[in-house]
Order: sequence, then structure tokens, then C-alpha cells
Amino acid sequence: MVSQWSASKTALDRAQRSIGGGVTSSVRSSVKPHQIYFASGNGPRIVDIEDNSYIDYVLGWGPLLLGHAHPQVGAAVKAQLDRGTLFGGGNLTEIVAAEKFLAALGWAERLLWSNTGTEAVQIALRLARSHTGRDVVIKLGGGYHGWHDTVFASVVVYGGGGSAIPHSAGQPASSLADLRVGLYNDLDACAALFAAEPGRVAAVLVDPTSSNTGSVVPAPGFLEGLRRLCDEHGALLIFDEVVSGLRLGLAGATGRFGVTPDLATFGKAIGGGLGASAVAGRADIIDLVTRDTVHSGTFNGNPLAMAAVDATMDVLSADGVYPQIENTSRTLVEGIRAAAAKTGHTIAVHGIGATALVAPGLPEITGPDDFITADWHWWDDLLVPEMLARGIYLLPHGRLFLSTEHGPAEVAETVAAFAEVFAMLPP
Ligand code: PLP
Repeated sequence: MVSQWSASKTALDRAQRSIGGGVTSSVRSSVKPHQIYFASGNGPRIVDIEDNSYIDYVLGWGPLLLGHAHPQVGAAVKAQLDRGTLFGGGNLTEIVAAEKFLAALGWAERLLWSNTGTEAVQIALRLARSHTGRDVVIKLGGGYHGWHDTVFASVVVYGGGGSAIPHSAGQPASSLADLRVGLYNDLDACAALFAAEPGRVAAVLVDPTSSNTGSVVPAPGFLEGLRRLCDEHGALLIFDEVVSGLRLGLAGATGRFGVTPDLATFGKAIGGGLGASAVAGRADIIDLVTRDTVHSGTFNGNPLAMAAVDATMDVLSADGVYPQIENTSRTLVEGIRAAAAKTGHTIAVHGIGATALVAPGLPEITGPDDFITADWHWWDDLLVPEMLARGIYLLPHGRLFLSTEHGPAEVAETVAAFAEVFAMLPP
């Protein structure tokens, strides 16, 4: 059992005197018992400032698909560091990385580099509006697509009725005037939104696996139906693959589900731990940036991040990488399921690609509607601190990110900790 994180608590108190709220992303203030301060990470493990070591399922909130301090990524970044970090012009690595990433996707003709998922979604929406000459965007309830004003709505709870519910104080109501909210896995709801505003919808923005509210397999025909609706109404289909990209496989959701969007956004895992993101898709849409559609960013395509993308693509393209991740995920999911069955807890557990989800109080989870009914108090407030005390670092709300570096030893240790904690918590 690890100590009670007193040094982290002291650090947080100190941080609150210089950093707003003491955390550098609002969501980190929600973790229990409080934000932990870390000193280092290696492979699947992370070490806090009191030298406690944890198996890491947070993985930087998703990006570290290759685990911490991957040697190949580290070598590429260090080599670039010595050659300079920013040129304000072109660098050859941004081309090589783009070629490798597009080749892996297989369906996209062009991409634009940026730094965060939020930025990638922002340019995707701008391109869609520019291409169609329309303003309205349909997102789906429970989908998180970044924190910019025009799409940061109905993130946690289904908005219903097509209206968008702002997620933060300070968002002007006018910023959501062109956002409508459909329902994941419900084609009729999306069709109704199209029908209500003929000729006004520029795009449907969907996270194919609803990564922030379930990480599920979409219902049969759902993505195909969205594709059909968009085609019928002259709108674009945008996949937000900021989380699912590379975690579902090299070709992302398109490779997995066989539905091709017009544009897709990527972030998190593509940078191997550094900040890199992209919108990829049809050349005729992306090339609008050569005409009247503006894409900016001082750090876009910066050599350091591009070296990391390049190395990440090389590591992930090696034979056997994805089957091994799927195998690890399957063993973990089956182990947690068996532990829950033994203690009589009703807990839905599933895995998709390099992500797993554990939803307490539910027999299964198929999307955002189920997701919000799970017993997240039980997970966040009771289970997470107990697991942390046993050296397992988990995210709130049941999601476990896996890396190429998690193996049988980590899975066995994790399942044993779950079994112990299940046994001491009420069903
Ligand atoms: N899209 C999805 C699906 C996400 O989960 C996130 C972040 O969690 C984003 C976009 C925004 O990415 P970033 O935090 O890099 O701005």
C-alpha cells in the first residue's frame, strides 16, 4: 500500500497560490483524492513525487499509447532537440510524418497539422462550413470535442430536442446558435435535425466510438446511416478520432467500421506524448486553406512534435503491435469481469482497441444514455482512491487506457487489485 500522498497534497496547496485552481486543466480538479504529482514514468508505470510507483491507465489522459519514455520516440525527439525546435518555415519531418500518417489511414488525401485536439476540431468545422457555405453543425449528446465555445455543449447529458446546453460559464449563447444536438446510435434523431433545417447543415460531427461516454462499438448501421444522411443532404461527415485514432488501429474508425468520413480529426496518441494533432480528409476540402479558408498556429508542424509523430508511426506500424494490444485488453477485461462476478457486483466491462471501460451498476453499456446512469460516485470516490493505494492509477468515470507496454504482469497485478477492492466495496 502506498502512502497517503501528503507530498502531492502539499504541492497542490502550493500550486493553488500560483496556478489558477492549482491544476492546469479543469477536469483534473475532479480526480480523487486530489491531483497526484508525478516525477517520472517508464513504460506502463508512473512514479509520484514520494517515489510510489503505479501501473498507469491514465496515460496522460490518452496520448501515451506507447507508454512513458518510449526509447524510439525519445531518441527521435532528442535528435531533433539538438537540431533546433522551431523554424517558422517548413521542415522535412512534417512531410514524412504526414505521408506516413496518410498511408496508415488509407482513405485521406491531405492533412493539416496542429497541436491539440481542440484546434483540429476547430479547423475541421471551419473547413466544413467553408466547403458547404452553410453554418449549422450537428453534434451528438455526450460527445466531447474540445473546449472551444462553438462546440462545448451537451457534453455530459443528452441535450434533447436538438438544443445545445453550454458546458461552461462564460460561453456566449450566440456561440452555440449554429450547433444542434443529436443522439448517438439514433439515426431518427439526426434525420429529424436535418429535416428541420433543409439546406442549412454543414456537417455531422461524431466521435465514432463515443470515447468520452462509453468507448463503445457503434450500433450496426449507425455510422453508415450518418454517412447516408450527410450525402442525401449535401453535408459533410466528420469523425472526431482524437481519442480513438491509433487506439482502434492504424486506420482508425474507418479501418475498424468501414465507413469513410469526409474529414477526421486526430490528436492525443499521434504525438507519442508530445502535442500534435491533425485534420485529415478529402483534398478538395483541405486544400481550401490555399484559397480563402484560414488555418493558423505558430507551433503547427513544429519539428519536435513531428519527430515524435514520425517515430510513433514507425513503432505502431511494426508487425504484431495491434494484436498484442488487443490481447492485453481482452485479458484485462475478462479478468475484471471475473473478479466482479465473484463478488456479485453488477459491472459492465468491455474493451475496444487500446481502451477499456468499466461501468459500475450496469449489466452493459451501449452509449451515452447508459453511461450517465452508471454509478460513477462508486467508481470515482470509492474505488479509484483504493486502487491508487494499491498502485493502480485510474481515470474517473471508468475508462482505462492501455499502452503497447502493458503486458501480462501488469494485467495480473491490476486484476488482483480490482478483486481486492471489489471485495471490500458494497455491490
Ligand atoms: N475530441 C475528443 C474526442 C476528445 O476526447 C478531446 C479531449 O479529450 C478533444 C477532442 C480535445 O483534445 P485536446 O484536449 O487535445 O484539445
